[in-house]
Order: sequence, then structure tokens, then C-alpha cells
Amino acid sequence: METKIKALDRSCLKPEDFKEAVEILKSGGLVAMPTETVYGLAGDAMDEEAAKKIYAAKGRPSDNPLIVHIADEKALYELASDVPREALAAAKRFWPGPLTMILNKSDRVPFGTTGGLSTVAIRFPSDNIANMLIKTSGLYLAAPSANASGRPSTTRAEHVYEDLNGRIPLILDGGSCKIGLESTIIDLSGISSGKKPLILRPGFITKEELEEVIPGIEYDPVVISRKPSENKVAKAPGMKYRHYAPAGTLTIVEGKSEAVVNKINAEAADKKYKRIGILATKETRSLYKGVQYDDETLQNNLKKLRPISLKFEEKTSLGSVGGSIELEDIRQHLSLEEPVIFTVGSREDDASIAAELFEALRNCDELALDVIYSESFEDGPLCQAIMNRLIKAAGYSIVYV
Ligand code: AMP
Ligand code: MG
Repeated sequence: METKIKALDRSCLKPEDFKEAVEILKSGGLVAMPTETVYGLAGDAMDEEAAKKIYAAKGRPSDNPLIVHIADEKALYELASDVPREALAAAKRFWPGPLTMILNKSDRVPFGTTGGLSTVAIRFPSDNIANMLIKTSGLYLAAPSANASGRPSTTRAEHVYEDLNGRIPLILDGGSCKIGLESTIIDLSGISSGKKPLILRPGFITKEELEEVIPGIEYDPVVISRKPSENKVAKAPGMKYRHYAPAGTLTIVEGKSEAVVNKINAEAADKKYKRIGILATKETRSLYKGVQYDDETLQNNLKKLRPISLKFEEKTSLGSVGGSIELEDIRQHLSLEEPVIFTVGSREDDASIAAELFEALRNCDELALDVIYSESFEDGPLCQAIMNRLIKAAGYSIVYV
């Protein structure tokens, strides 16, 4: 299957822009679309066959439920069997926006979409392309992140192409996603039977903001844990899998800034490792020894290599979670003498760190890095969301200095 990328101009969207996408969706096919969080792989949420196609294209385990995207709050009453007061308050405050609510599902929602669960995840995205696609199709769109299962989520159309080329007919290109991390997920399905409201996945909407409309909301302890939990299972099935991971071994180094820099420089100088990456910030990038990722020579070499890296993507074993990637072609064609330093946003603005994290992790694979060290991000309103993704990508490998 040919995968087409269609670039859209957000400032003047026309119904014709969506004609092809709507035809594909209405005939049970899949379309990747931008949202304000990450790119989504959309299919008709009421069609179990479309859900099956989504799982197959991503290589996602089919017990991992899909989020249903809507463009009108009234859809809550069609998709959920009961809509608690707290859900309405959260919808009023945060929708359209990066908040997903888990409610008890109505009979209309097929189990194929909910991974067999009796609950359904619902989100009303604010992105104008996603919004118009939902409206012009007249469908509810099941849309998980548009990445190969296990890889970092996609924040640009090119990333979607890398992972899903040949597996879906169309990608709508709306440029870079503003937020860059997936939505905050809250579980309100137990409220009517006296259970506490829970945050199942931290995201751009923080616990503090949620507490203003849902007093007493707490984190599912599993999602903020710094150690892999042996007995406890995350309540969002997707949170149990290795996720967001680059192919190389990622280690987070945490402590005072100077100690972190010293530790990472010392580790990176160790000659037993060949291809090393360092995830730093605008404030710290110049303190590390190595070549900056935006270095002109490195970028020129990468440009020459791009056809090879696309070829290597075809060899990716999409079927298995956290599947191995054949990186030998890249290693052979791109020699790296020094560690590569990536700038992941600025510490003055943690939203910039969130927005750039997944792309940096993908760029580590583009260079076939074997070993990656990352600074830790413990301050700022988005630190729970950022660290949740980073810790999963690192497989819980954290060094305290
Ligand atoms: P993604 O679509 O890639 O953003 O992942 C969706 C996340 O939502 C996964 O972690 C799912 O496990 C979670 N999720 C979706 N539906 C439900 C549900 N009904 N109950 C709990 N978690 C859900
Ligand atoms: Mg995902």
C-alpha cells in the first residue's frame, strides 16, 4: 500500500481538504491525523473491523484499549452509560483539550474498541484539523498514538511515515504537535459506586488543575512509581508495556545539575561504549563533551543517510512490543567519534521539554545510538508527565548522584 502525505494549511481549512480522508474512514480504513498532543491513527470507533486494523498497523496488543475522539460534548451521552457530575465539570473546564476521561461504556461502543473492557476512554481534541476531520466524517474516531507500538509517539507527519509507511493509505500533515506528550487520562468510571477518581496517565493537564474541578483526585500509584511494580498492575492497560523506548539503552541521571553533568561526562568518556547520546537542555548543552546534534556536518551526513534510514524502518519488527530494530546499515554508513548532545527544550519552560522529548528519542534511533544518558526533569508543572514517559523509555534505569 502506498502511503500518501497530505499537507494541510491550518489557517484556511476547507471541507474539500478532508474529502479523501473521510472516504477512507467511512469505508472502514485508517487515516493518521495531527492532534494537539501527538499524531493519532484514526478509524471509525463504532466499527470493530477498523479497530482490528488499528491494532494490526501499530503492532499493538489488542487488550490495550483505544481512545474515542469526539467533536461535541453531547457525544458523552451516546458513548457512556452514565455521565457523573465530575465528568461534566471537567469537560466544561478542559475540553476541547488534552484530557481523556474513562467512563462506563454504553452498549453502542464495541468491545473491539475498548480492548474488551466495559469502560470507554473519551477525548475532545482542540486541534482544528482533528476537529474538522471528526465533524466532516460524522464519525467518532478511535485514535491511539500513530507510532509503531513500543516506539516513541509521533509529533510530526514524517515520524508517522517512518513507522507506518506502507501500512496506512493517508497521513494528514498539520506540522509539529504543540504539546508533544499524550493526553492526561482520568478514570471516573467508579465514582457512582463510591470509588475514588484517579489519574491513570499524567499529561499536560496537571493534578493541581484537575483538583479544582474534581477534589480528591489522586494518581494511580503505579504511574508515578520510580520502580517497576512487581505485583501491581497499571489501571490503564497501555501503561504496563515498555513504551516510548529508543533502541539504545537509556539511563536517567538525577541529582544536582553539576553532579549530573560530571557523571554523564565521565560515563560518556568510557571507551567501552561506541555510539553515545546525551539528552541535555538549552541551559546545560554546552557543559557536555561531544558534538551537538544540530552541528552542520552531522546534519549534512544525516541528509545523505536518510534513504538508508527509511529502508531500515521497513525492517523494523512492528509486530512485537518494543521490538528490535536492525541498525547495522546506519552504523556502517555514519561513523560517530564523539557523544552526540541533544537539546531537549529549556528548563525555564518545561512545556518546551515536553514538546521536544519524543523527537529527541527518535533522533537517537536515527543515529543508531547504543547508549543514551538523560538529565532528569524534576521541576515544573509538567515534571510528572515528562518523567513518566522518560522513566518508561529508560525501562526504570535511574542513577542517583
Ligand atoms: P494511546 O492511544 O497510545 O494514547 O494510548 C491510550 C491509553 O489509554 C492506553 O494507555 C490505554 O491503556 C488507555 N485506555 C484507553 N481506554 C481505557 C479504558 N477504558 N480504561 C483504562 N485505560 C484506557
Ligand atoms: Mg501510545
